[in-house]
Amino acid sequence: MEAKVYVNRTLNLRKIQLLGFDMDHTLIRYDSSAFEETTHEVVIEKLVAKGYPKSILSLPFDYDMAIRGLVIDKLKGNLLKVSRHSAIRASYHGIKPIDFATQKKMYSSTYIDLRDSRYSSVDTAFSISTANLFMQLVDLKEREPSLQLPDFSTMAVDLMNAVDQAHRDGSLKSLVRKNLQKYVIKDEAVVAGLERYKKHEKRLFVLTNSDFHYTKLLLDYAINPFLKEHKDWSELFEFVITAAQKPRFFMDNQKFLKVNPLDGSMTNHDGKIEPGIYQGGSASIFTKDLGVDGDDILYIGDHIYGDILRLKKDCNWRTAMVLEDLEDEIKKYRAAAPIQKEIDQLMVKKEPLEAESVALVSARIEAGGKIAKDERIQTLQNQVTEYDRQIAELIRRQQSVFNKYWGEVMRAGNEESYFAYQVDRFACIYMAKIRDLLAHSPRTYFRAPRRPMAHEL
Ligand code: IMP
Ligand code: MG
Repeated sequence: MEAKVYVNRTLNLRKIQLLGFDMDHTLIRYDSSAFEETTHEVVIEKLVAKGYPKSILSLPFDYDMAIRGLVIDKLKGNLLKVSRHSAIRASYHGIKPIDFATQKKMYSSTYIDLRDSRYSSVDTAFSISTANLFMQLVDLKEREPSLQLPDFSTMAVDLMNAVDQAHRDGSLKSLVRKNLQKYVIKDEAVVAGLERYKKHEKRLFVLTNSDFHYTKLLLDYAINPFLKEHKDWSELFEFVITAAQKPRFFMDNQKFLKVNPLDGSMTNHDGKIEPGIYQGGSASIFTKDLGVDGDDILYIGDHIYGDILRLKKDCNWRTAMVLEDLEDEIKKYRAAAPIQKEIDQLMVKKEPLEAESVALVSARIEAGGKIAKDERIQTLQNQVTEYDRQIAELIRRQQSVFNKYWGEVMRAGNEESYFAYQVDRFACIYMAKIRDLLAHSPRTYFRAPRRPMAHEL
């Protein structure tokens, strides 16, 4: 696939002085399916150690059961797909789809308040396993009441704590360390791109929530072997900021700690930051010490909340988002295009019939006549119903080209998904992989297309 960068807001790379990279799932690509499956296994063991029944050890892992942007309803044990207006467009209870009538009974309104703490977003590639396992646990609780699993909310909290622990206590990272080839995808083109950007005097830095030792492990593995003009990644990146606690990094004034690259030991850092490796810190100190404005910096990340949203809201940095689901989504979008065309053609046929029916029914009502007796109205309504049936069938086929449970990542029915809406709103540009951005010259002018509003179509 061509190196495509999608533009929401015009961005002139020539004006960008510093490019910052998130590490996990941005600079470093993972085999997500392998990583999430391992997370699933590690987390289940943690739950059993906490007192959950051993039978959960056999809960299967199905990577497709969740996609990015879904919302977990911890209270009801549901997984929801939500539109840009926060309307529920699809839902599952455990691993079973919820029909529209039941969904309507469960939620007094189709619209939900995503700020409510009962909801939790599946917004990073690291949370696919969480959503998946929650659905499996809910299903098991419904199937086997005798197991006396805790209520849905408690299970969700236990699960999220176990995932958090798995990431923090080294249980996942030690497995990655033992088998880097299994989990990390190397990409020579990324390193070539970074060296090319250096030639244009772009200042590069890494800003990651991972700790120094893990950062070093991955950068040693995925960057160093491909360097041609530098000896080590520490020469490529002017600053490497580890354990940054994003999004706090963008909002607070935490101090930087200086990391000794030889052993990872840390010392307080007073005075301006100079090139090197750090832990913690904050965007405000960073930009002040470097004497740059927010919009001199482009930050590239994969996490809409941790990397992009707060950055755009609290700082003035330009933002780029790596959306690894995009490549697959675009491929499928193209594969589904003929079905979409058929849907559009049927809609064109249906609309005049609908309009005629509306006009006739309205005229009847206004003249005080009976609708049921009118043959033409009946014929029109039958034809419309038949078109609706055919369209519904085509929509099912079109959606099944995408994820078999949830359809498209970026759309919820005809509207954008909530996830797509956030990407649109907060990411200046977005692309499937970091190499797609780096394939463009550092002098590129990314121009946003003029987008028609409803009245202009
Ligand atoms: P970044 O994407 O480079 O900023 O790094 C993400 C870091 O956050 C990785 O080290 C992950 O292991 C870690 N991480 C992901 N999810 C969680 C979580 O739920 N709790 C704690 N750490 C997490
Ligand atoms: Mg990341």
